[in-house]
Amino acid sequence: MKPFHAQFQNINGTDTYPLDQVIYRSTVDGSLLEVRHDREALASRSPAEWKKLFAERRMSFKPADMSGIWSKREMVLPEIPEEDIVTLQEGWNPLFDASALAKELGMNKLYVKLCGNSHTGSFKDLGMTVLVSQVNHMIKKGAAIDAVACASTGDTSAALSAFCAKAGIPSIVFLPAGKTSIAQLIQPISNGSIVLALDTDFDGCMQIVQQVTADNRIYLANSMNSLRVEGQKTISPEICQQLGWHVPDTIIIPGGNLGNVSALAKGFDDCLAMGLIDKKPRIIVAQAENANPFYQAYQRGFDKLIPVKAKKTLASAIQIGNPVSYPKAERAIKNYNGMVLSVSEQELADAAHRADRTGLYCCPHTGVALGALTKLRSENKIAPDEEVVVISTAHGLKFTEFKVAYHENTLEGISSKFANPIFKAPAEIGPVMDILKKEMANRRR
Ligand SMILES: *Cc1c(COP(=O)(O)O)cnc(C)c1O
Repeated sequence: MKPFHAQFQNINGTDTYPLDQVIYRSTVDGSLLEVRHDREALASRSPAEWKKLFAERRMSFKPADMSGIWSKREMVLPEIPEEDIVTLQEGWNPLFDASALAKELGMNKLYVKLCGNSHTGSFKDLGMTVLVSQVNHMIKKGAAIDAVACASTGDTSAALSAFCAKAGIPSIVFLPAGKTSIAQLIQPISNGSIVLALDTDFDGCMQIVQQVTADNRIYLANSMNSLRVEGQKTISPEICQQLGWHVPDTIIIPGGNLGNVSALAKGFDDCLAMGLIDKKPRIIVAQAENANPFYQAYQRGFDKLIPVKAKKTLASAIQIGNPVSYPKAERAIKNYNGMVLSVSEQELADAAHRADRTGLYCCPHTGVALGALTKLRSENKIAPDEEVVVISTAHGLKFTEFKVAYHENTLEGISSKFANPIFKAPAEIGPVMDILKKEMANRRR
């Protein structure tokens, strides 16, 4: 059997580099790199054998097997020794059966993939385990890496700091001052990162981190580092596995820097190449109206990316005006018969809190994806019998300010259609029963 193998390759496939090299862009054409697997080696196992192996690992208590990412390690980083893996048992995220919400939207099958049900509360854990494991491996082999750094709208830094703290590797995070939630800010502080709040936006932090990491002793953890994509792409086989290796018709994902949609497409590419699935889903990206350069490019037929100054949005993790993974995301939309939608602040806030009424607990970014779904259903651009999976990117608990303000109806410019106000009453049975009788009748579904 051919040994499993992977290397970095540029987007045009003209130059390659070993995964142990500290490199993020092609030295030939400057394009972002991707991890390319030896597909012949992967094909030496039949689809049935892979599915059996993945099912067996689901029942195993071995550290690598308990991670959704590393349980598919041959597709991720096939050559890393298991003892170098840094895992927080990420992945295996619930596929929430959202049939109550589906019914409200006039459709039959809707799932929400809860990628934020994870150690640091966002899908960034899925990719960060791969990046930090590879850095850990390189340091153990003697590489001169002093620290790992990232620019972040909040969730990347939380993930980086947790994995680095576990591995004992110093981490550095650059955040746009005052633009993250309290939960996002306190995570890297607690995990001991060097935290710098810069007086700029995400795009400004990104420029600084690229300068800081230029000499290679500080390793860059942003999504232009394609190692993270390898972890995030396991969302795709995991959804299929959870559905009994059946492919949903449509997937809706919120996009900012566009690394995650690239990862989703790459996951399906790899599944197709391995014969694990035999059809493609449609991939739809949802952006916030206040930061929608990808949507605008899509509207112009993908002529080119014209960076915008991202305006403030409740979906703070996607307040990005110059998405680094644009070329990969364009390819994803083209290869997966995709679409890009833009959602207003009102739409995202209502969509998130409407979904909460059915047992979810949505962050604003998940609200963006659900807002897109609501729109597509009302225009019948998603058919009633289409099977849809919405990617939820963070846990609602990270965005308490958003949720409290929504229910208090104090979000600027937004009237909260699904607010659930607290009832104030004296501690007397009469007035209490009056409220209960009225409200219980209102809530029957
Ligand atoms: C990072 C992030 C996104 C956007 O992902 P990209 O890969 O940048 O498109 C969406 N939602 C949340 C909660 C995030 O943390």
